[in-house]
Amino acid sequence: MREFDYAAPKSLQEAVDLLSRLNGQARPLAGGTDLIAQMKENRRSPALVVDVKRIPELNVLSFDEKQGLRLGAAVSCMRIANFPATREKYVALADACGLIGSVQIQNRAAVGGNFCNATPSADTVPPVISYGGTVVIAGPKGRRELPAEDFFVGPGQTVLGNGELLVEITISVPPAHSGAAYLRFIPREEMDIAVAGVGSFVQCTADGLRCDQARITLAAVAPTAVRAREAEEFLAGKTPDETTFAQAGELAARSAKPISDVRGSAAYRIELIKVLTRRSLLQAWARAQAVRGTTA
Ligand SMILES: Cc1cc2nc3c(=O)[nH]c(=O)nc-3n(C[C@H](O)[C@H](O)[C@H](O)COP(=O)(O)OP(=O)(O)OC[C@H]3O[C@@H](n4cnc5c(N)ncnc54)[C@H](O)[C@@H]3O)c2cc1C
Repeated sequence: MREFDYAAPKSLQEAVDLLSRLNGQARPLAGGTDLIAQMKENRRSPALVVDVKRIPELNVLSFDEKQGLRLGAAVSCMRIANFPATREKYVALADACGLIGSVQIQNRAAVGGNFCNATPSADTVPPVISYGGTVVIAGPKGRRELPAEDFFVGPGQTVLGNGELLVEITISVPPAHSGAAYLRFIPREEMDIAVAGVGSFVQCTADGLRCDQARITLAAVAPTAVRAREAEEFLAGKTPDETTFAQAGELAARSAKPISDVRGSAAYRIELIKVLTRRSLLQAWARAQAVRGTTA
């Protein structure tokens, strides 16, 4: 590992100043579960590591009925998964946080780090996008907000410019009669990253019979997480059953542009998307029905 300087600013402004000054040669550090490994392998060699864990804004974890869920970019997956509001109202996000690595990794790794590392297989990204989440960014020119799905540019690349950092992820209160689920496939029961993953969100009509809207986000089958819009449009207004969700799976696969690699072939990933979409929709639908107090 190359030598580097380390700073642990206590304010957002200080962090922005440090990151801006080094013109791309500084990297924020949250849990370090990606960054430290990348530095050890010389895949990243920052001159300065800016530890963001002492910045109050990045440690916010809160929920209220007006603002919804606020996840500071340095909050660990474990804290988020155990937060009562996440467990109650954002179950798909709790599902994803509970899948990252191991208990040890979840205690270090932040959802913000998962976002900023920007691998196509990042597990927390599909549920956040499917819930309609927003990212809040701070930088030398001030703050900006954008939909979570617009944060990613390509593998390992985000919209963050020089001196910018992710402050928090926000998700508004899920609408009535809605449910969500995140499922991924890994080939073994050990720690591994997703061969494919699907985050599904559905809202049913007040009578519980029809699907009002659906959002489906696919992981590990394109350079960034990708919405399966054809499948979403197909589901709107339908009275879904297992066959409908299987048809949605077929349509979702059309939004996937996977590559073949050591984890699986492109053709295999396409089949996985069909299955994971159907299953995650069924689970999301069952959760939406449970919220209504009826059975799925
Ligand atoms: C054994 C193991 C198992 C893993 N399993 C999984 C898994 O199952 N699923 C999965 O998705 N990932 C997995 N990962 C990858 C990793 O744990 C996650 O991506 C994690 O969420 C990264 O968070 P972190 O806080 O550790 O990020 P860090 O390593 O601190 O940072 C990651 C990247 O984001 C940047 N960054 C961090 N915070 C900010 C910020 N606020 N603003 C701007 N840039 C920032 C850093 O500079 C770095 O480039 C695994 C890793 C290991 C080592």
